[in-house]
This record gives sequence, structure tokens and C-alpha cells, in this order.
Amino acid sequence: MAEEKKKGLALHWQILIGIGLGIVAGIVLCKITPYENWYKYIKWAGDIFLRGLRMIVIPLVFTSIALGVAGMGNSAALGRIAGKTILYYIATTAVAATIGLTLVNIVKPGVGASLNLAEEVASVSSGEVSFIDQIVSIVPSNIFESMAKGDLLPVIFFAVIFGFFMNRVDTKHTITLSGLFTAVYEVIMKITLFIIRLAPFGVFAIVTNVVGKQADDPQALLSMAGSLGIFVLVVWGGLLIQGGVVLPLIVRFIGKQNPWRHISKMSTALLTAFSTCSSGAALPINIRDSQEKCGVSNKIASFVLPLGSTINMNGTALYECVTAIFIAQAYGIDLSLAQQIMIVFTALLAAIGAAGIPMAGMVMLAIVLSAVGLPLEGIGLVLAVEQLCDMPRTCINVYGDSCGAVIIAHSEGEQLTI
Ligand code: ASP
Repeated sequence: MAEEKKKGLALHWQILIGIGLGIVAGIVLCKITPYENWYKYIKWAGDIFLRGLRMIVIPLVFTSIALGVAGMGNSAALGRIAGKTILYYIATTAVAATIGLTLVNIVKPGVGASLNLAEEVASVSSGEVSFIDQIVSIVPSNIFESMAKGDLLPVIFFAVIFGFFMNRVDTKHTITLSGLFTAVYEVIMKITLFIIRLAPFGVFAIVTNVVGKQADDPQALLSMAGSLGIFVLVVWGGLLIQGGVVLPLIVRFIGKQNPWRHISKMSTALLTAFSTCSSGAALPINIRDSQEKCGVSNKIASFVLPLGSTINMNGTALYECVTAIFIAQAYGIDLSLAQQIMIVFTALLAAIGAAGIPMAGMVMLAIVLSAVGLPLEGIGLVLAVEQLCDMPRTCINVYGDSCGAVIIAHSEGEQLTI
């Protein structure tokens, strides 16, 4: 955008510098004084940035989906796009989970891991929310309550219904509502642009805080030396295969676009996802850049991306598989092939159910573990490295959504500008 060019140094470079300086500042500050003494002077800036992004998510998602669905015109187009979107999400998430499963079985990072390192997990429930309950809860009983709680799936559901029926009332009402929603949407996009300007500072504060917290915890650093370090490498390696090979190939051969140019255009959204560990926080940037930089239509971006930010989590599914099997290995539990397939299946469901917020994937791990009878305390084994795993998996979650928008836009005959 013109406003971005005026600045000189591109925003993604500014964010990268923010990340780099944050790492240095976190380490240096810990050397000078303990984490407790300084974090409150830094953390607030990251909190403001994150809250600012979350502030716009609900109005953005509601108006953009309602407009997008209304813009599809007829139910056949809606059904076609929704069908392709869900198919793409399930297929890529299943591939990601399988990559995780394969790598962790080859490297076996958990074999011989010391169980002494397990941290106490205060309150993990077995997470036995039934599948039926999950489906039922998509239909909001009170849309304002769902909005207030930030529950995206019910909000998406209501917005789809609203957009669908917006086209089925008197034309003068359709025109009024479209005008109103377009106006709100445009204003929210302007606010997004304003908040993105703060990203380098917000990201700096978030990273300084995270690095400081870890650097102040010698136990966590020590544990990285052994099997936990290899576990992190397996997670990163799997994510790298999904994000560096599988998804780019899909963009290249199904979306017929240059994957590297696409990544470079989406870099602000990806870096925001990486540093905030929240697909929800990266969503406004993802929607904006998919449209303005990649040329995806509003109709597709505003349907595919919000839905993706809550149900399409390639990185999370991969993480769930690697972690569940790592825990089984650490406890010396042999899993049959059927149990491993069960893990892939529940990892898919856990990834769909996980919210786009930090650590959601780790909480959902309880579902995967209980599905095959693995000890829930195993989660304590990986707590120390949760941040290190959440950052890259959120980045891949958001990248997967953005690839989805590109290939679906291409399949609908849109001219992209990647
Ligand atoms: N933090 C991830 C996200 O927002 C979810 C997770 O914890 O896996 O996409």
C-alpha cells in the first residue's frame, strides 16, 4: 500500500528487527536484574498491541463474512466454495499430522527421556468434550454472548446465516445492510492498518518478555539439552516440511502461483502469528494482505480466512501427533498402528477445536492423550518448551489459511497479483 511504502524500511523488516532486538533485550535484561524486576515495564506494550488486534476481530469477522456470503449471490456458489474450503483444510491438516507421526516414529525423541523433568500440570481435565457437543456449540444460543466471549465459530455460523438471508429480503434492505457493513468493514480495515504500524514495538515487547521469562528459568534451559531439545527439533523439522515443502507445492501446482512471492507478501501476517502465538491476532492482517497484496477477492478472503483461523490448524495437528507419541515413548508405552491412527484422527479434531489463541493446542492435547489412554501428566513433560513450539506452529497455521485463500481464489477463476 502507498502508506506502507512511504515509511522506507518495509514493515516485515521492522518486525524482524523487533524480534531480533527483543531476543537481545530479554537476555541482557536478565543478566542485569531478575525477570520479576523488569517485565512489567516492557510487557504492557505487547499487551496493548495484542488487545488492539483482538479488539477488531469480532466486528471484522462478522461484517466480512456476512458481506462475503451475501456477495456469493446464490447458495450454489456458497456451497461450492465452502466445500472446497473444508476439503482443503481437512486434506492439508491430515498431511501435516501424518508428517508429524512419521518423523516422531523415525527420530524417537522420547525414548529414554527423563520423566523427572515433568512439570506439575495444575489443571488439565481429560478434555472429554464429545464430538456432538462440539458440533452443537457451533450454533450460538446468544450471539452477543459468543461475541463477548470471542467464540469465533458461533460468530462465523451466525454471520454466514445472516449473509445468506441478507440476500433474501426486500432489495432495499439488502442495499442498506450491504452499505452499512461495507462502511464498518472499511473503517475496521483502516484501524487494522493503524494497529499494524505498532507491530514492531508490540512484537519487540512480546519477544523481550518471552525470552526474559525463559532465560530466567535455568531448569527449562537445561532440559533443552536432552530429549526435549530433540523433541523441539522434530516439531520444527515437521513444521518446516509442511510450511517449506508441502504447502508451497500446493500453491505452486494447484494455485499456480509463485510460493516464495506469496510468502514474502504474507510475511507481516506470518511474523505477527509467530511472535503473538495467536491465529486470531494475525487474522486482520491476513485478511488485509491476502486482498491488497495477493489480490484475493473480499468474497473469498473473508470466508476462507476467518474460518481457517479457527478450524484449519496444520501446525497444531502436527504438534499434537508428535507430542502424543513423544509422551508415549517417554513413558515406555508401545502404541499399536490402530492407536497411532487414532492419534492422527483425534489430532485432526483437536486442531479443529483449538481456538486461535496462545497455548490452545497444548490444552487440546488432553483430548488426544485420553483418546488412546496415555497419561495426562505427560503434558508436564513438554510445558517447558511450549512457547518454542507454539510460535512456529501458529505461523504454519496462519500460512496454511493463506495458502487456502490463494488456491480457492485461483480455482474460482480470480486473477491474483502474487
Ligand atoms: N496458538 C495456536 C494458534 O493460535 C493454537 C495452538 O496453540 O496450537 O493458531
